[in-house]
Amino acid sequence: MTSPIMSVYSPAPITPVRGLGNWLYEEDGTAWLDCVGGVASNALGHCHPKMVAALAQQANLVWHVSNGLQIPGQHELAIKLTAASFADRVFFANTGTEAVEAAIKLARRYHAQNGQTERVDIIGFHGSFHGRTYGALNAAGNDKYLEGFGPSMPGFHHVAIYDSESIARLISAPTTAAVIVEPVQGEGGARAMTGDWLRSLRQQCRSNNVLLIYDEVQCGMGRTGRLFAHQWFENAEPDVMAVAKGIGSGFPVSACLATREASAGMVTGTHGSTYGGNPLAMAVANTVFDEIAQDYFLKASNRLSQRLREGLASVAANHPEIINDIRGKGLLIGIQLHPSNRDFISQARKENLLLAGGGDNIVRLLPSLNSTDSDADEILLRISATCQRMKLLQD
Ligand code: PMP
Repeated sequence: MTSPIMSVYSPAPITPVRGLGNWLYEEDGTAWLDCVGGVASNALGHCHPKMVAALAQQANLVWHVSNGLQIPGQHELAIKLTAASFADRVFFANTGTEAVEAAIKLARRYHAQNGQTERVDIIGFHGSFHGRTYGALNAAGNDKYLEGFGPSMPGFHHVAIYDSESIARLISAPTTAAVIVEPVQGEGGARAMTGDWLRSLRQQCRSNNVLLIYDEVQCGMGRTGRLFAHQWFENAEPDVMAVAKGIGSGFPVSACLATREASAGMVTGTHGSTYGGNPLAMAVANTVFDEIAQDYFLKASNRLSQRLREGLASVAANHPEIINDIRGKGLLIGIQLHPSNRDFISQARKENLLLAGGGDNIVRLLPSLNSTDSDADEILLRISATCQRMKLLQD
């Protein structure tokens, strides 16, 4: 029977009906060790009891009212997010791509408001991913995702991460509005930018009155071991930042954060969303924030990342013909492979291990940030067994 669902996805033949922590279960009880985590979204794992309680409690109060009324929890979460970051203002949306769209619109408004209507160009980087709506697609400029969707939109330019000459030229152009970058590229291949590189962007943007936008949709909310990935570095703060995925830990919610100055043009009527920051989303996101922002939580998550990375280094040393490189930051872990990542993902399924793919022939390990040591050891065992399976296929 052909499915009435548009075939934009090709899901694995696995139907989880229940989840707990890093584990997913099918109807017949088959257990899967989940290192996809809803694509880096399930920061607290499946069915975290505090999230379940928060959602259930809110579901019995009020679900949705629109932003025409004051929404319980929005002010509270905005205070937390701004207190914990460079930002002064927050716009709530539902998905990563919407947070990116808000950031792009905000950047253009900022310059228009300052009388520089010619400043419209957005500079993005090769290998980046910002989402599937037109602005986000054009900001990333990846031909693969743009093919067949009409002309590329004007006002977007792309440059290689290492091409400092072109970066300097584009940032100093009089029509440039903003630069958008993932401090750790996710989909593109778990590539972490260095502090020096981000600082240099920061400084060049500032001296040219260009806004710096970070897309921390995947690498933010504790994924790298700091609340936000750029916070590993001093003097590298953006003017605007898109956050999603982990902020709802499985509930669709996102945010565009900005400084007071950068967001000055976003006055009543300039932007909006029906569902953005609705009461259910706020109940969940406040609970998630309170958990992740704890010092002990991120410390434990960093310890776990170290345990996994040390284990992976020894698996890699035992299988140099399979693993080329271990990269990424914190619990956004990329394993770059010699054989095809597709084959590796399907062999891992034979070990009941779910892995995410990524550009540059990587697989990503994206376990929950509160994974246990025994989860980490189980992941390592199954990665090692997958390497053995891959070796047998090669021989
Ligand atoms: N930006 C980044 C860095 C992402 O990784 C993603 C999703 N993988 C997005 C934006 C888009 O998020 P969403 O699918 O929620 O629109």
